[in-house]
Amino acid sequence: MSNANFVQKSNLFSFTATRCLRNEYFHNDCHICIDVCPKNAIQLVRNKLTLFDNECIECAGCIGSCPTESFEIESFDPNEFAASYALENTPTVSCKISTPCLGVFDIEHLLVMVLRSGESTLCDLSHCATCSLNENGVMEKSIRGHIDEANRFLTQIGIEKQVGTIDVLEEQAPRRALFRKGLDKAKEAMGDDTAPVRSMTSAHHAIVNMLMPLKRILLKNSLKEHVGNMTETKFAEPSILFFNKQINFETCTNCGDCTQFCPTDALFPTSDKQGIYFSQGKCIGCGICEDICKPNAITKKEEYDLISVAFDRAEQLVYYNMVMCNECRCPFPYKGGEPICDRCSGYKKEFSNMFTLAKDM
Ligand code: SF4
Ligand code: SF4
Ligand code: SF4
Repeated sequence: MSNANFVQKSNLFSFTATRCLRNEYFHNDCHICIDVCPKNAIQLVRNKLTLFDNECIECAGCIGSCPTESFEIESFDPNEFAASYALENTPTVSCKISTPCLGVFDIEHLLVMVLRSGESTLCDLSHCATCSLNENGVMEKSIRGHIDEANRFLTQIGIEKQVGTIDVLEEQAPRRALFRKGLDKAKEAMGDDTAPVRSMTSAHHAIVNMLMPLKRILLKNSLKEHVGNMTETKFAEPSILFFNKQINFETCTNCGDCTQFCPTDALFPTSDKQGIYFSQGKCIGCGICEDICKPNAITKKEEYDLISVAFDRAEQLVYYNMVMCNECRCPFPYKGGEPICDRCSGYKKEFSNMFTLAKDM
């Protein structure tokens, strides 16, 4: 295990602790990478996520699963691959040709490949059954789960192209050797293999001061070309990719916690701080806002609009008129009735007996 504070590195991977939702937000209990790792190489140590690289078999499953791209592989960038996939002559994505284990790709990457290429994408899974990285079938299950979700979304939005699979084993070769060969090939293609090369993802992470993952930005840009041709862009079904929120006007206290802690700025205050905006395109569904809201005023809304997603349109969820409280003289979000803030009215209720006694004396 590396001693570096924020970035842990193994031979091939790096883990940036400051991008991990779980590490950065006390209220978050994300455990996607822990669940997908077949070797228990990712563990919680004093409630902080830690990579034990002596256990890691470098299957890349954590890379393709983390919602905030906390893991990166040194010589292969799934975002770069997905973005340039349309320029490739072959629709086949194979660990035997140009990628590490296909566990490196998330649903967003697969969708970007299909949406940008104009062809169906073919994932070569014919080697999974005999692969040493696929212990107990965990990795294959994860890859197939991503493919199924990508296809479900494509069908939902009326796109005929799909992510197909090649399931028949045609040849067998030592897996680890090919994994490294694939990485060497990728390094070679990037030029001087001794000089450190900043990948598209690292460059994005370096300039964007928040946890917005590049894979979602690529997907939104890919969707822009398609939404114009779609007859229906609003969907009422719950989605694993896109999320919507609502705030209860009566119970929200306009405390601002949700806007302060949202890691991608999907929730943000109006310029006068009297209301809250929400952008479906920026929400990664981490659930921090719902966990942190004391009066449980913010909840999921089971519908999303692809135009709002693709073009980052923000919707105003609540807006309050601020008035002065008659008791404490502090401004508060007024919702009708006597102008007394929640804190003073709560205080009055709690100590009503005392006030009655004092009146009687
Ligand atoms: S999947 Fe990503 S955000 Fe979630 S616990 Fe793992 S590193 Fe953190
Ligand atoms: S939704 Fe909850 S966390 Fe957000 S401002 Fe309202 S009360 Fe505060
Ligand atoms: S709006 Fe809520 S669920 Fe969405 S990214 Fe922000 S904190 Fe997470």
